[in-house]
Amino acid sequence: MKYFPLFADLDKAHVLVAGGGEQATQKVRLLLKSSAQITVVSDSVTDELRELEDENAIWIVLRTFLARDLEGQRLVFAATGDRQLDATVSRAAKARGIPVNVVDAPALSTFIMPAIVDRAPVTVAIGTEGAAPVLAREIKTRLETWLPANFGVLAQRAQALRAVVAKGIPDARSRRRLWERLLQGPFRRAVLSGTATEADRIFASELQGAEAPPSGRVALIGCGPGDPDLLTLKALQRLQEADVLVVDRLVNPQILDYARRDAERILVGKTPGGPTTSQTEINRILVREAAAGKVVARLKGGDPFIFGRAAEEMVALQTAGIAVEVVPGVTAAHACAARIGLPVTLREHVRHFSVVTGATADGAPDLDWRALASPGTAFAVYMGVGNAPLLRGNLLAAGADPDTPVVIVENGTREAERAVATTLADLTDCVASRAIVGPAVIFVGLDWDAAGLCRPESVILHRRRPQSVHDRDGDTAIANTEAAL
Ligand code: SAH
Repeated sequence: MKYFPLFADLDKAHVLVAGGGEQATQKVRLLLKSSAQITVVSDSVTDELRELEDENAIWIVLRTFLARDLEGQRLVFAATGDRQLDATVSRAAKARGIPVNVVDAPALSTFIMPAIVDRAPVTVAIGTEGAAPVLAREIKTRLETWLPANFGVLAQRAQALRAVVAKGIPDARSRRRLWERLLQGPFRRAVLSGTATEADRIFASELQGAEAPPSGRVALIGCGPGDPDLLTLKALQRLQEADVLVVDRLVNPQILDYARRDAERILVGKTPGGPTTSQTEINRILVREAAAGKVVARLKGGDPFIFGRAAEEMVALQTAGIAVEVVPGVTAAHACAARIGLPVTLREHVRHFSVVTGATADGAPDLDWRALASPGTAFAVYMGVGNAPLLRGNLLAAGADPDTPVVIVENGTREAERAVATTLADLTDCVASRAIVGPAVIFVGLDWDAAGLCRPESVILHRRRPQSVHDRDGDTAIANTEAAL
């Protein structure tokens, strides 16, 4: 180990940054995480540094570095952009025995800067002695995704409780065991999910020697439309903590690979032509698993609050006194729109965008067709494929323009993804002749043209063949279907 890792106490320490360009600004940004008193010396500085001086966050000496600037400094960084000047700073600092770092010049430096993962007071410093900074960055990225953003809060809570624990449990070994239980078990989870009163309750009972009964909890996790890369970091963290996964049919099985291998899996939901778990049964399973003290991840497609029946599950859990947390996910409409580069609101053109359901428990939805049919209205229909003829019929009957643009995205972000652009008039024909079965989102009233964009090549254009006797028969058939619905 050529470089020995240390954590330097910079509280109120004077630190000098020689240089005022982008690299120097980056160092200042980093140093501002500490409570050091930062002086920048340079004959020119970036706007960002100037603003920081205006906020009294740093001092700026607007001239070239002089050796006397080192007076009283604890650390020195040189990033002047001028190698010769950097070398002068380095020599002067070394002569005074002040640790110095010259950006990108280990030979001129007496210390180097690690890659940092900041969850203060928990900090991780990663270094490769300059051998392969890319590797340090890779490790940093992994840790950033793995450590919850509020991980530091856990350490702060521990700090705040240290004295109480030391007083309550004089024996060092028992104390260590208590800390292990607190920082790895239900207390930790309660702190990290922001349920402070629950955390206090667990702490109190753990401190009294009573091992807190394992407290089960449920996270309703939005898993997005399919592509695992669209999971949020929080979804990933909750997935990895879970003892049990209760999985919806719409959740891409690949996402389960991100969970612990030993986590139990319960598949629920509707499989077309296969077994169906009723909502009451799902609620019962969630309550049963959590009441047994397990950490439950309830995986849902898209976002739990958008046609996800999350409310019913929350009511069941809350009634049973079980903690429940909702982790938002990327909803199908947003993901599908992104896949085909179709903005869902547009300055001057589309000021209102809504999501509607095309199916309800008792069949057809009772929507405000007149409002949906009015010009300038855009919406995404979920679960609408089966009722496409009804959708078309009702919108046209309510006065919608038959040329209203319609775009259908089936299996968005999944392997079998398919997108078709058509018009309201041709919607039924499009769904039938292209054999669209879903899951699909039907966008109505959105168009690339209005945004000055081009329809991506991947989006198929569907237009009905020119009118013929045969087609008119087709029309009658469609009209009949609509009447039947
Ligand atoms: N909570 C989910 C919606 C569940 S309702 C969300 O926020 O996305 C089920 C409907 O979602 C499907 O009928 C379909 O309309 C839509 N959907 C879900 N996944 C989809 C996907 N990958 N591509 C297109 N539509 C999808």
